[in-house]
Amino acid sequence: MSTENQRVLVTGGAGFIGSHLCERLLARGYDVLALDNFSTGHADHVNHLLHHPGFSLGTHDVTEPVPESADGAQLIFNLACPASPAFYQEDPVQTALTSALGALHLIKLARRNGARLLQASTSEVYGDPEVHPQHEDYWGYVNPIGPRSCYDEGKRFAEALFYAYRREGFSSMRVARLFNCYGPRLRPGDGRVVSNFIVQALRGEPLTVYGDGQQTRSFCYVDDTVDGLLRLMDADVDVPVNLGNPIENTVLELAELVLSLTGSRSRLERRPLPADDPKRRRPDITRARSLLGWEPRVRLRDGLERTIDYFRCELDLSRRTVVLPAKGVNTWAVNRAVSG
Ligand code: UDP
Repeated sequence: MSTENQRVLVTGGAGFIGSHLCERLLARGYDVLALDNFSTGHADHVNHLLHHPGFSLGTHDVTEPVPESADGAQLIFNLACPASPAFYQEDPVQTALTSALGALHLIKLARRNGARLLQASTSEVYGDPEVHPQHEDYWGYVNPIGPRSCYDEGKRFAEALFYAYRREGFSSMRVARLFNCYGPRLRPGDGRVVSNFIVQALRGEPLTVYGDGQQTRSFCYVDDTVDGLLRLMDADVDVPVNLGNPIENTVLELAELVLSLTGSRSRLERRPLPADDPKRRRPDITRARSLLGWEPRVRLRDGLERTIDYFRCELDLSRRTVVLPAKGVNTWAVNRAVSG
């Protein structure tokens, strides 16, 4: 299928995963409109794309109805939402509404445009899981009033809304449940474990291990995650699909690996375990393998090396000028066929 002049909207397009996705979409030949409210996204993630004739960037918060200038999108990726527990708990009302209202507004846009819509959901829909590994048919174990619930329940509500519309005939939808994604463009102060450990190791500061460090996560390199998102969008699959790395590590193992890869002599420092911190998390990716032919390719060690290289450069850069786009620049790039 030709992608020329096909328009793709990416909300959260200046975010960590969104910016990588925009790059890949442009490389495929799509026209890409990235919308972001820049709460956790950053213009410098996509600065290098601004010269691309098929790329445009606008400021928009998905809790508001999507501007008509975004009409014309044939494909929509809804990635807008802070994903770091430290960030999403800072403004819990906004977090909950971002998932809930964002889903509503984008479903409306997709229906208006006859577009295909992919919702970035999360492993957090499984909460602190009692089933291990987590397959998509597991309903999860979520504290509906805990500090993580603004995110977990927000994402669960978004899924519920998608499937409510599905029952009313909206069939061109996709739901990806993303498990701990990492890679270049995580922010140094992001608060997630991979960025925290790498930055602490490079600065020679203690690595902050929450709890006993025996809790597990399964870390997926961002290129693999984006590859999964693209495959899911291309496929005819309207059931939720886990996208994550089936290899599980304890937080302590991650700390040791970061220390060895950075050559850092930082020590480990214990901190209290945050409330409701899931004890184990690992995706069952049987569905992604069989329906999308997808599985992660990048080994943790290799992905961490690339991420460490990125952070070395980031921490070296002293000061940069970042220009945010003015509010309301929510328009498609000039049609290349017309503008020549
Ligand atoms: N964690 C940690 N030290 C840190 C940041 C996080 O030990 O500096 C732990 C956290 O308690 C959790 C795991 O690392 O068990 C992953 O945390 P993260 O915030 O990256 O994402 P989550 O999977 O909890 O959403």
